[in-house]
Amino acid sequence: RWGRPGSRCPLPPPGRMDPSADTLQRLRETFRSGRTRPAEFRASQLKALGRFLQENKQLLQEALARDLRKSAFEGDLSEIITCQNEVDLALKNLHTWMKDQPVAKNLLTQLSSAFIRKEPFGLVLIIAPWNYPVNLTLIPLVGALAAGNCVVLKPSEISKGTEKVLAEVLPRYLDQSCFAVVLGGPEETGQLLEHKFDYIFFTGSPRVGKIVMAAAAKHLTPVTLELGGKNPCYVDDDCDPQTVANRVALFRYFNTGQTCVAPDYILCSPETQARLLPALQSAISRFYGDDPRGSPDLGRIINHKHFQRLQSYLSPWLTGGLASRAPAPTVLVDVRDTEPVMQEEIFGPILPILNVRGLDEAIDFINRREKPLALYAFSNNSQVVNQMLDRTSSGSFAGNEGFIYLTLPSLPLGGVGNSGMGRYHGEFSFDTFSHHRACLLSHSDLEKLNEIRYPPYSDWNQRL
Ligand code: NAD
Repeated sequence: RWGRPGSRCPLPPPGRMDPSADTLQRLRETFRSGRTRPAEFRASQLKALGRFLQENKQLLQEALARDLRKSAFEGDLSEIITCQNEVDLALKNLHTWMKDQPVAKNLLTQLSSAFIRKEPFGLVLIIAPWNYPVNLTLIPLVGALAAGNCVVLKPSEISKGTEKVLAEVLPRYLDQSCFAVVLGGPEETGQLLEHKFDYIFFTGSPRVGKIVMAAAAKHLTPVTLELGGKNPCYVDDDCDPQTVANRVALFRYFNTGQTCVAPDYILCSPETQARLLPALQSAISRFYGDDPRGSPDLGRIINHKHFQRLQSYLSPWLTGGLASRAPAPTVLVDVRDTEPVMQEEIFGPILPILNVRGLDEAIDFINRREKPLALYAFSNNSQVVNQMLDRTSSGSFAGNEGFIYLTLPSLPLGGVGNSGMGRYHGEFSFDTFSHHRACLLSHSDLEKLNEIRYPPYSDWNQRL
């Protein structure tokens, strides 16, 4: 696929030199010229991004509907409005975030000024996934632009409708001397990663995260890796099953289960499972009707490959397979951790329930596995929720809630261990895309005061 010159970086035809080098060179030169550093320029780019979101809202909604059959409501809420809020927040706080931060001084530096300067890294690469293709591409972009960087954006090739809008329309709004969209899948992204960037921000699977980090290591390029994994959800015996079921079902089946922070599986006692199952069934039919596959509030699985993967999880339970790429929300009970559905992130509308005997066994189960991106605990007893918080680790944690915390830009989004490294949203994004430079400015006079520090040190005691 060839792009239009100027706005997008065309992909190399087989056997030809990689032309993205020219684009990168152009962006580097812009950065060196200092064009992206002033607050006014950064604000102009953020405003342009805001205009892109407002003026192309319908285009984006249609693309999201084509890619994932997202309803306009869900698309607005979780993608377009969320991005707009981040743009507005960055514009409102840009000057404050950009200010040098004075730091504490000691006797030796009393007469100097010491501060942290947040400066742009330079040329930044953002690689995005398909599941929230607007949100997860543009929210990192807000941070990168606010911090004064030049940006190469690589949207997911799988969410084709959105990729097209981002490649063809977005560059018309942003300054093309410091911004480019590059298209392509694994092969083209691999080629892109051979180039040197000053920062790489990647959102996707842990498998590809390792490829990105290995490529970045060759240039000693710092990375943020926003990855995935299996997010446990502990449900205590002391709970109201219907309240838990409503909240878990909402967040498990949102975006047809294709959410990195969705509760992936439930851990509870057999008794709680027995109370939870009818409550989950009731929540599902209340939210999505008696035939959820016809619900306008459920989307579809992104492509056939992912659909087949989900179908394979259900093969021990179903004969004949699923009927369409819009599978109904499914709950699996008495699941063992050796079953296929427990071997990898589900990323679909399937919710397995595994039985444990109480909180200690649940904590042990969680701590024996990779650190998750998100962890959920439901209980009427706050001590249970606090114990889960105190004795485990995860990128984020919610007690008696789902991933509603994503609406707070005052909280960072990021993983730990296998679920990633680094964080963003709100000011965390600005900090992620800024190098924190340690600065000390002294005076060239007052030399008498400095005499004490020069060698020879043999008479040092007498100088005091
Ligand atoms: P993915 O890792 O397959 O792809 C992500 C990006 O990497 C895409 O742009 C793709 O083109 C590129 N890519 C794929 N293979 C590559 C390769 N071999 N070399 C270089 N680049 C390559 O992920 P996905 O399927 O798009 O998204 C789903 C995954 O993303 C899930 O694991 C999910 O948990 C994770 N995710 C994480 C977050 C988060 O905030 N932590 C958010 C959304 C999704």
